[in-house]
Amino acid sequence: MIRDPDTLNALLDTVSRFVRERLVPAENVVAETDEIPQDIVDDMKTMGLFGISIPEEYGGLGLTMEEEVLVVAELCKASPAFRSIIGTTVGIGSQGILIDGTPEQKAAYLPRLATGEQIASFALTEPESGSDAASLRTTAIRDGDHYVVNGTKRYITNAPHASLFTLMARTDPSVRGAGGITAFVVDAKSPGIGFGKYDRKMGQRGAHTCDVIFENVKVPAANVIGGREGVGFKTAMKVLDKGRIHVAAVCIGAAERMLADALKYAMERRQFGQPIAEFQLVQAMLADSKAETYAARCMVVDAARRRDAGENVSTEASCAKMFASEICGRVADRAVQIFGGAGYMSEYGIERFYRDVRLFRIYEGTTQIQQLVIARNMIRAASA
Ligand SMILES: Cc1cc2nc3c(=O)[nH]c(=O)nc-3n(C[C@H](O)[C@H](O)[C@H](O)COP(=O)(O)OP(=O)(O)OC[C@H]3O[C@@H](n4cnc5c(N)ncnc54)[C@H](O)[C@@H]3O)c2cc1C
Repeated sequence: MIRDPDTLNALLDTVSRFVRERLVPAENVVAETDEIPQDIVDDMKTMGLFGISIPEEYGGLGLTMEEEVLVVAELCKASPAFRSIIGTTVGIGSQGILIDGTPEQKAAYLPRLATGEQIASFALTEPESGSDAASLRTTAIRDGDHYVVNGTKRYITNAPHASLFTLMARTDPSVRGAGGITAFVVDAKSPGIGFGKYDRKMGQRGAHTCDVIFENVKVPAANVIGGREGVGFKTAMKVLDKGRIHVAAVCIGAAERMLADALKYAMERRQFGQPIAEFQLVQAMLADSKAETYAARCMVVDAARRRDAGENVSTEASCAKMFASEICGRVADRAVQIFGGAGYMSEYGIERFYRDVRLFRIYEGTTQIQQLVIARNMIRAASA
């Protein structure tokens, strides 16, 4: 749902200019230093980008899902690492509080997340629990007016910069699976929280992940999201339904950027006395990439509109995430091919995108997990 096209177009224009004038010129610096310059982070705060998904009453921009995907796709025409710094706060880090938090929790946390003063991370994955998230082992055992948390979370995006974690932990170890899991908001400065070294990743330099180790961390009982034990896994899945539409939008922005770069290169690069764009085999790669990117954009916007209309979008979110991340990988591969040898060289930047976008088929549910979700939902609906 787009509430006011003029306001949205003004925001899209601002983001587009920011991408062109500030982010794209800084891509190489970020790749070399593995850091996003502080002045860029500050500008993102000023633009309200940390608060795009947080309602206006808590100081955010309160974008609808349709508006959010359009803004995110525009932002992701620059290196994905720039989006990552706002991504966990906008998405999986804040949405548990927003969707299932108590009024007191929303009032306590959302305003500082909306301004970017605080960064939120989402701590679900563990060394022994990835796709099978319901098997997580981190425990949170009630002791009077607080819980004692022990366990290790793995690959947590923005953990080194986080002020708070949306943490999934098992409050009832006697219940195996989803029913024993509770969601918490945890202050990242709590005594007993330790951090691993930055993970050395295939791509997305400038976006940081690491292990987060909880050793006898005391978390107040008031920090149970929504005040209810045993429903944390449901909260996580609701968060991921939204997160998957968001990641699908990220894929569209990246695919459109790579395709624009490949087209420009194909029109400039000459072989056999003509631009390589004149060769029909190159045109096939351009055309397939265009059609797939267009299809993915239509799908993501449709899924977003359905969510705005209050529909259950579990199937559509998984379809959009799976399709958009898969076509993004294919577009990346063709873009490298169109660049030829230059595509393999770091100075042209396309090999960096190729590595950066590989992640999208893995996190927030691998392609195989999306397939399982889609098929299970189909079977459940047909059996009802
Ligand atoms: C850079 C990065 C950032 C991340 N950020 C976060 C974060 O902020 N918070 C967080 O909680 N997690 C985060 N993750 C974790 C991410 O969500 C998991 O890596 C992902 O869900 C896959 O889990 P896994 O790595 O344990 O792989 P596994 O679950 O071990 O899967 C390995 C392979 O087996 C396949 N597989 C597994 N089960 C099945 C099945 N039932 N049927 C068919 N195939 C199957 C998978 O599809 C995959 O191909 C991040 C990961 C990365 C790499």
